[in-house]
Amino acid sequence: MITGKNYIGNQLSAKGATTHKTVNPKLNKENPTAFFQATSEEVNDAVELADQAFKVYRNISGKQRADFLNAIADEILALDNELTDMYMSESGLPEGRAQGERGRTVGQLRAFADLILTENWRSNTIDEAIPTRQPFPKSDIRKTSIPLGPVVVFAASNFPLAFSTAGGDTASALASGCPVIVKSHAMHSGTGELVASAIIKAAEKTGMPNGVFSNITGSGRVVGTALVKHPKVKAVGFTGSIAGGRALYNLAAEREEPIPVFAEMGSINPVVVMPNVIKNKAEETAVTYASSITLGTGQFCTNPGLLLTIAGEKTDDFVKDLAEKTVAIAPQCMLHPNIKDGFVSNGEIVTSQPGVEIVGKVEGNIEPNFAESTIAAVSGSDFLANPKMHTEVFGPFSLVVKAKDQGELVEVIDSLEGQLTGTVLAEKEDFTNLPTIADALQSKVGRIIFNGVPTGVEVCESMTHGGPYPASSDSRFTAVGLGAIKRWIRPFSYQDWPVELLPEGLK
Ligand code: NAP
Repeated sequence: MITGKNYIGNQLSAKGATTHKTVNPKLNKENPTAFFQATSEEVNDAVELADQAFKVYRNISGKQRADFLNAIADEILALDNELTDMYMSESGLPEGRAQGERGRTVGQLRAFADLILTENWRSNTIDEAIPTRQPFPKSDIRKTSIPLGPVVVFAASNFPLAFSTAGGDTASALASGCPVIVKSHAMHSGTGELVASAIIKAAEKTGMPNGVFSNITGSGRVVGTALVKHPKVKAVGFTGSIAGGRALYNLAAEREEPIPVFAEMGSINPVVVMPNVIKNKAEETAVTYASSITLGTGQFCTNPGLLLTIAGEKTDDFVKDLAEKTVAIAPQCMLHPNIKDGFVSNGEIVTSQPGVEIVGKVEGNIEPNFAESTIAAVSGSDFLANPKMHTEVFGPFSLVVKAKDQGELVEVIDSLEGQLTGTVLAEKEDFTNLPTIADALQSKVGRIIFNGVPTGVEVCESMTHGGPYPASSDSRFTAVGLGAIKRWIRPFSYQDWPVELLPEGLK
């Protein structure tokens, strides 16, 4: 049963008068619950509680924090259909996706719980003293990693579970010993409240300090701005638009005490299709990519938005076939009317540029928030002359660039901004040309994929989900996988500290 209220620590609270409702995009109508935007007093209370909770939470054992994370996973599963029904009613995504994303969310929580059962994640190091060293004795120095303090997490619109209230940012921050205040996404506040209730139940059952978690609602940037500006907030995690991530980054940098903002933002994820793939495997590649481009209505940060090819007759045939296969997939619902508006307007920006041809687009009457999947094409020289073609069209859209030769294809890669992923589709006969392409991609992306699709991000130790700006605000870190914990910690050294007073992992 949802209430529309904020969780300020363990207490439900609704002191304000401003409310918003979520939208069922499939039915194109508002859902019934009114959600109360947090007041500045409630924002302040949540951060103050988190600051108090930090004093306790930072020092409890890894085992206790792991129990908390596992209890969150259990409570999320206990919500059962209530959660998946709410998810579907606020996102337009199908039941299979709701269940899959719930599984991933629970899996991430349990993976971080396992990680913190030992102290290895802190990368502890010990340099023992050498009292006899000349000309000066060497001190005993031991280094560990400690949590930063209260973290604000902005829930992502395109993953109502796995990158939201109890998603990867929250799981990794709680694992590290940081309390979390979630700025719930206004498009799925009901899903957010249900998951928040699971976290609060888990916190109470496992004896966590009040304030270790809060869930704050709001829209129109007011609440997000207040949270990032609060002096007791020490870091921010964000997934969303470039404009939003950049605005929050700037806000954090302007504070008297600047704080890190780990923003995962836009990406068009270039895919290089080498000539021998077009020669030998055109049809199967078109099938695979029509499916990847339309997966989840194209609303993935790793959606393949840019295909890079070498021009030729066979390439023209491949692009035509890809367009036919993409358009033949039944149109699907987008997350929200605003996301649909962005898809249409950004699609128009790209397709109205000189030299861009729409090769295939879903035509005719479709339901209001459903997407018209589109494949467009342009020459390498026109692409190079016009940065507007780099615009992210968030949804089932891909632009195929036809370069005149490999040199121009590499120039196209060099002209791109930072990206999350780069993919190479190649046959053995293409291998001699790959090192130059791989080098060019390495400067631009965080993950390179061979003969696959960029959609689908494994949660594991070796995953990098991040990349040079604007794919993310700090390319040294990943937002997915166990390495994500490193965003919320800082190195800390003990010098000549009495052994009996050192933390366990440093003794
Ligand atoms: P968004 O507009 O970036 O908003 C995400 C969150 O950030 C919201 O909670 C929003 O709060 C907050 N926010 C944004 N700008 C802010 C500012 N200037 N000050 C304070 N808070 C701010 O993203 P979205 O609503 O999820 O989707 C909009 C578009 O972003 C999509 O159409 C898509 O193009 C892109 N997007 C990209 C990815 C990706 O992975 N590449 C993922 C999701 C979305 P309020 O609700 O209070 O405004």
